[in-house]
Amino acid sequence: MDNPRQADYTQITFPLKEEAAMNFQFIRRMPDAADIVAAWPLPPEIAQLKQVRDREINDIIAGRSDRFLLIVGPCSADNEDAICDYVSRLRAVQDETADRLVIVPRIYTNKPRTTGEGYKGILHQPDPEKAPDMVAGIVALRRMHLRALAESGLPAADEMLYPENHTYLEDMLCYVAVGARSVENQQHRLTASGLDIPVGMKNPTSGDLSVMLNSIQAAQGSHTFIYQGYEVRTAGNPTAHAVLRGAVDRYGVSIPNYHYEDLLRLSDLYRSRGLENPMAVVDVNHANSDKDPQQQPRIAMEILHSRRLSTDLKTLVRGLMIESYIEDGRQAVGSHVYGKSLTDACLGWESTRRLILEIADRI
Ligand code: PEP
Ligand code: MN
Repeated sequence: MDNPRQADYTQITFPLKEEAAMNFQFIRRMPDAADIVAAWPLPPEIAQLKQVRDREINDIIAGRSDRFLLIVGPCSADNEDAICDYVSRLRAVQDETADRLVIVPRIYTNKPRTTGEGYKGILHQPDPEKAPDMVAGIVALRRMHLRALAESGLPAADEMLYPENHTYLEDMLCYVAVGARSVENQQHRLTASGLDIPVGMKNPTSGDLSVMLNSIQAAQGSHTFIYQGYEVRTAGNPTAHAVLRGAVDRYGVSIPNYHYEDLLRLSDLYRSRGLENPMAVVDVNHANSDKDPQQQPRIAMEILHSRRLSTDLKTLVRGLMIESYIEDGRQAVGSHVYGKSLTDACLGWESTRRLILEIADRI
C-alpha cells in the first residue's frame, strides 16, 4: 500500500442511518470525495500537465486554436489494464499528430442503461461478474483514471451521469459529457454551470435540438441550488457546447444528424440564441452510425468534407467523438476477450489508429 489512508476503504464501515426510509436499504455510508482524493492524490507534476491541457482544449472551444478535438475511447472503461494499454497507444498517436489534434481519451466509468438493466460501469461493478459494490467502485474508478493519466499523460473525459459524483474525479478530468438521457435534467444542467472544464451537452434520443440548446444555455448561466448538502452558487460555464449523437424515432429507427444540412441547421440555431462559444462535437457512433462502429471512419470523413465546403461548419464543428477499443465489436459479460467492449460495439485499435491519422491529414 503506497499510502496508509488507502487501506481504510476496503474494511471501513461508516455509520448507517438509524431507520431505513421507504424501500431503501441503507447499506453503508459512502466515503467523502475529499477523503478518496487524499488517499489517491494526483501528483503535482500531473496536475500541472492537466492545467496545460485544460488551456489547450479551452483554446479550441474559444476558437483561438485550429487544432481539432478528438474524444476517443471505449463505450465503457471496464478493465484497468486494458484501459491503460489503450490510452498508451493513444498517446503514441497523439505525439504523431500533436500539431493538428488534441486527443482526449474516453474513460467512461458509469453507463446509463436504456432499461436500467445490464452492466452499469466500473462505478457499480469493479468486477463485471460480481455484485455491485459502490465503495469499491469509487476506489476502482479513481485508481484507473489516475494510472491511465500517469502512464499516458492524457487527461480524460468521462460522462457526468451522477452529478454528485463529479468531485471524486474533478481534479483529473478535462472534459465531461452530459448524456442523451440526462440532458433535460435540472441537476445535470445546474452542476454543469459550476464546472471549470468543458461540458458537452448531447442531443436527447428524440433528436430535439432545442432541448440540447436549452441545456447549454442553462449551463452557461449562473445558478443557486443545493449540491452535496450545501447551498451553492455557480459562476456559469461558457464552455458548455453541443454534441450531436443522432436520434431514434418512435419506431426505434436511427436518424443521423451529422449530415451537411443538420450541421447548418445547428449553426443557424446557435446564431439565433446568442450563446457563448457556439461549437459542436459530433459523436460518430450511437444513433449516428446506427450502432455500427465500422461506419465511424466514413462518417468522420463526411464531416471533414462538410467542413471544407462551408466556413460556418468549419467554425462550428471543432471535434469528433469516436467509440474505439483494442478489439472490434462487443462481447457479453463473462466472455473475457481482452480489450473488447462490454457495452456499445467499438472500432478496433488498428482501424482507430488509421482513422486518427487520416483525420489529422485532412483537417
Ligand atoms: C456513450 O457515450 O456511450 C453514451 C451512452 O452516449 P449517449 O448518451 O449519447 O447515448
Ligand atoms: Mn456508447
